[in-house]
Amino acid sequence: MNVILLGPPGAGKGTQARILESERKMIQLSTGDMLRAAVASGSEVGQRAKAVMEAGQLVSDEIVIGVISERLNAPDVTNGVIFDGFPRTTAQAEALDTLLADKGMTLDAVVEMQVDDAELVDRVSGRYTCAKCGEGYHDRHKIPATEGVCDACGSTEFKRRADDNAETVKSRLDAYHAQTAPLIAYYSARGKLKSIDGMAEIGEVTRQLNAALN
Ligand code: AMP
Repeated sequence: MNVILLGPPGAGKGTQARILESERKMIQLSTGDMLRAAVASGSEVGQRAKAVMEAGQLVSDEIVIGVISERLNAPDVTNGVIFDGFPRTTAQAEALDTLLADKGMTLDAVVEMQVDDAELVDRVSGRYTCAKCGEGYHDRHKIPATEGVCDACGSTEFKRRADDNAETVKSRLDAYHAQTAPLIAYYSARGKLKSIDGMAEIGEVTRQLNAALN
């Protein structure tokens, strides 16, 4: 099964993708993670993407489609893929249709996670992850059981994304509404769209997500 998680920054796409990975042995494909790795490595793609990401704008379709196209050549994608943060423009959605068709893969569902903008700024500006295993936390909503120690792996190192600050979140939300939200109509017209309540507790969102996929 191949699915797209669609929603604004902070909607919980990454959190739910990680849960689907462990429950269904699917593979999370986050273009944000891939681009951050490219920036950290100093590759040509990373150098081209860095300033755009810091400004909270969208990296060019050409770069992002190239990154995802290469990733879809790896053998593990046959386990089923969760697209997280991709596609983000109509051009990317069209490119994905072509890429999947070329590889003999199907798109089973697009799940839109609905969250209010006001909630998103609070969620994104307080979040951080374990530097070792990637488990997600939040200053107010999800703190480790033992302060400073990751619940999942015991690591004591955490990190925050450079673009998770209130000012950049605003640009990222603007980009979502202007460039990504049209995909709701795109996938609805193709009979692929399911919408769930991203404002609920994490476990309830997972329940709704599973119901949408089953
Ligand atoms: P994310 O981790 O999904 O929030 O992405 C972080 C940043 O990476 C975004 O604000 C964009 O600058 C860039 N990015 C990630 N995915 C895409 C995409 N599909 N298209 C364009 N830019 C992207």
